[in-house]
Amino acid sequence: MLADRRAKIVATIGPSTNSKENLKKAIEAGMNVARLNFSHGKHEDHLQVIKYIREISRELKAPVTILQDLQGPKIRVGHFKNDKITLIEGSEIKISPKYEIGDENHIPSDFAELPQVCNKGTKILLDDGLLELNVLAVNGDEVIAKVIHGGILKNRKGMNLPGVTLPVDCLTDKDLIDLEFGLANKVDYVALSFVRYSSDIKKLKDIIKEKNPGTRVVAKIEMLEALENLEEIVDESDAVMVARGDLAVEVGQSQLPGFQKRIIRICNQKKKPVITATQMLDSMVENPRPTRAEITDVANAVIDGTDALMLSAESASGKYPFKCISTMHEIICEVERDKDLYYKFSIEDKFNEVAEAISASACLSAYKLDATAIVCLTSSGKTSTLISSFRPQCRIIAVTHIEETLNRLELVWGIQTFSIKPYRSTDEAMFQIEEILLKYKLVNVGDKVILTLGVPVLEQAKTNSMRVYTISGEVPKVSPENIPLRCRP
Ligand code: PEP
Repeated sequence: MLADRRAKIVATIGPSTNSKENLKKAIEAGMNVARLNFSHGKHEDHLQVIKYIREISRELKAPVTILQDLQGPKIRVGHFKNDKITLIEGSEIKISPKYEIGDENHIPSDFAELPQVCNKGTKILLDDGLLELNVLAVNGDEVIAKVIHGGILKNRKGMNLPGVTLPVDCLTDKDLIDLEFGLANKVDYVALSFVRYSSDIKKLKDIIKEKNPGTRVVAKIEMLEALENLEEIVDESDAVMVARGDLAVEVGQSQLPGFQKRIIRICNQKKKPVITATQMLDSMVENPRPTRAEITDVANAVIDGTDALMLSAESASGKYPFKCISTMHEIICEVERDKDLYYKFSIEDKFNEVAEAISASACLSAYKLDATAIVCLTSSGKTSTLISSFRPQCRIIAVTHIEETLNRLELVWGIQTFSIKPYRSTDEAMFQIEEILLKYKLVNVGDKVILTLGVPVLEQAKTNSMRVYTISGEVPKVSPENIPLRCRP
């Protein structure tokens, strides 16, 4: 069943997946998180996708996290007379924000301060670093550069200035408008691009707190400054993305693997979910099978401890979007057979709060008692995320009546969620839980299950308790169409 996979799959939605029929196929193939990329698309199109996902998700009883990815201050070249130009190695070219339209000798840029931040020797990378320029001189509002690596440059391609501190705010005017839209439509997470300081995250959280406090924040790590301030940024964020596309251009491609591992390690230590993103199955944009290197890249991210793996163009505009999701699912499941991936806790762990002690105890008890599941009575999802960070091998089940929480937790490693009716006592909750676990065949009669909860339950106390149950009772009958998608055999 899909519920057996621990690492989650994030799929970017685009023309290949945005119809109702295709969104259903994507969820059925194993998509846990739908990423709406606000670098593209109109609000009305994104709204339609949000409505479709919420509808299908209820129909299939398969919660889906909706992740709004804000464009951020991405610098781009402008438009060219013939939509593209060819940059010839060794030639000179001028770049300026003042050009309305470009030609073979002039590149327009949407970054007004470009001449102010460039100096002789500044490296300018274009189109994800495929093309490279070196600044020779700045003449008023024109930058004169030599082409180091040439090739075709198309309209609106990205421009990176590695190592240059840019005088930009990471929430642009467009982002603020997009954010307003996302929060009004209750997206589960907002991803902030080009984060450099923890104050960038704080600023976004302040806006969210006022408009839709249930929404959480993903920090996209793609700038050198973000790596310098990584620990504070992770502390301030609810989740993190290793945004390998821009990160590789900013730090230099050969540094990427080391930084990817460091970001995942710090997120694991700080118990924050982390997404590994970009070009994971890139060749599948065109081909039905991945390369050996891509299979290994997906596997290594899982082994390193990522919570989720992301598809970009593969699912947004590729030829085989569902095949990509099922291929990722198969690779992850195979890797997750390795016992070394589980039970990441030690006697040396420091606990900052009671919920962490209870979560670690639940995992240790599950290990020692060979329990089949840890069930978490939750409202915000916090304790289940802490439990996930200890990577238990048994199932992690979070139960609540709050739909927002069910959707939001779909991003986090190993967590499966179920809706239960509000309860007045632990026994009332356990009665519902036992029925769910048995009827969806997540446990068998006689299995041990660990429960974490806050008592007194009627006072909605924070997690402070753990109990061990042995499953008993009848296995309820359920018709196949009533089984949640991810519990189907
Ligand atoms: C990236 O740079 O890898 C990324 C995920 O961000 P975007 O797709 O917005 O460039």
